[in-house]
Amino acid sequence: MNNKLYGNLIFELSKQGRRGYSLPKNQFGEYQIPTEQCRKEDAALPECDEMTVVRHYTNHSENNFGVNNGFYPLGSCTMKYNPVINEEVANMPEFTSLHPMQPEETVTGALDVYDTLQKQLSAIAGLSKFTLNPFAGAHGELTGLMIIRAYHESRGDKKRVKVIIPDSAHGTNPASAAVCGLQVVEVKSTAQGYVDVNDLKGLLDDTVAAMMMTNPNTLGMFEQDIPEIAKLVHECGALMYYDGANLNPMLGASRPGDMGFDVMHINLHKTFSTPHGGGGPGAGPVGVRAGLEQFLPKASSALSIADVKHIDFADEDAGGRISVGGYHGNFAVLLRALTYILTLGRENLKLVGPLATLNANYIKESLKDDYLLPIEGLCKHEFVFDGLRDKSTGVTTMDVAKRLLDYGYHAPTIYFPLLFHESLMIEPTENESKDTIDGFIAVMKKIAEEAKTNPDIVKSAPHNTPIGRVDDVLAAKHPVVKFKDIEA
Ligand SMILES: *Cc1c(COP(=O)(O)O)cnc(C)c1O
Repeated sequence: MNNKLYGNLIFELSKQGRRGYSLPKNQFGEYQIPTEQCRKEDAALPECDEMTVVRHYTNHSENNFGVNNGFYPLGSCTMKYNPVINEEVANMPEFTSLHPMQPEETVTGALDVYDTLQKQLSAIAGLSKFTLNPFAGAHGELTGLMIIRAYHESRGDKKRVKVIIPDSAHGTNPASAAVCGLQVVEVKSTAQGYVDVNDLKGLLDDTVAAMMMTNPNTLGMFEQDIPEIAKLVHECGALMYYDGANLNPMLGASRPGDMGFDVMHINLHKTFSTPHGGGGPGAGPVGVRAGLEQFLPKASSALSIADVKHIDFADEDAGGRISVGGYHGNFAVLLRALTYILTLGRENLKLVGPLATLNANYIKESLKDDYLLPIEGLCKHEFVFDGLRDKSTGVTTMDVAKRLLDYGYHAPTIYFPLLFHESLMIEPTENESKDTIDGFIAVMKKIAEEAKTNPDIVKSAPHNTPIGRVDDVLAAKHPVVKFKDIEA
């Protein structure tokens, strides 16, 4: 590594008595903290000078990889470029210094941000109204399912306890249904990767609350039978839920509301650009069609202090609050999304989906002689290979992913979706130039060649990273997450 300090913990760099900060002179006199509130011994804090701290964290940050370092084709995660203007707006002191309980008349600008974003999302999705409260995609799913449950209950329809979810769905779908107290019923996919309508027909009855669909689905394919599925689901009295976590390819192509969906969530951090690696900040606004607005969580916009005082956080009713702690959702993410939408404008927003789709298809077609493509045909923003085409080399998807790191690329999503044994899921996004994409294609071809001529170099990759191949099983079963555990 570029610096000897790499690998040290800040605690290891500590020298007794070193200081990086001193408190200003006391101008206010002494206050004696009651002894029962005082610590018995000093907190174990590292003692370092400022330069040591700055170097330590700067060196660590240089071992990071993000969209701003290089190509990041992590399927399903939409690691698109986050324009700098988003950060400028999110960091404006006029926004960062707001308090959620400020009187309404002092936050009219922020309220305007809510109102404008709600309207923009409604127009983009073809729905009536959005709540901006939920903090992530999964949180949005839960909110949406609570809305659906509240809708059925408002009609006195209490039998509906099942949610139908395709076997290719993102794992959060069944998890959200379970958290909402609903039963998960799986509907099969056809060999072409679409929801199997015949299988669905056998599952529909008056105990079904909703059908959850992801479109394009997890294989990157646009579901072909949505009009028929929506008709069947509505005929049995259930509602259609759209997992819009990956709305990116739909921008400029079609709208969930027009397809017959009743409720949906959008991952703003994916489609509308917020840096979100490593579980970073998100927002999962939920939209509903006309007629369902009354089931949205309250406070789609700001609350008065009187309102806040009356919040019942234990209230399970969907009409209650969904974001405990933050009354108004993840405001900085909402700001970035609105900035992104307004910066691009209507015309350019319509190019996002087609360009993301073009990039994905270009990579897919360029690599399908070397990598096994289980589902042929036009994909949307992403697609899945089932490992290398030549299975005789013994080189796995894991090996390919690790070897990509040696060449300076982030790995694609691997071993998801679970429909194939060697899934390798690639999503380039619309931002990448043809040069970058061609560079990636060349490296993927080179790795396929290495797998034949020198498989050991692929199987033992990565060779250029600070840490070589980690033992996944050991790391999962015996994670070392505390400084003390390392010492021991
Ligand atoms: C990312 C994703 C989710 C979950 O979103 P989070 O913000 O991570 O909770 C749900 N569904 C699909 C299809 C996704 O890609």
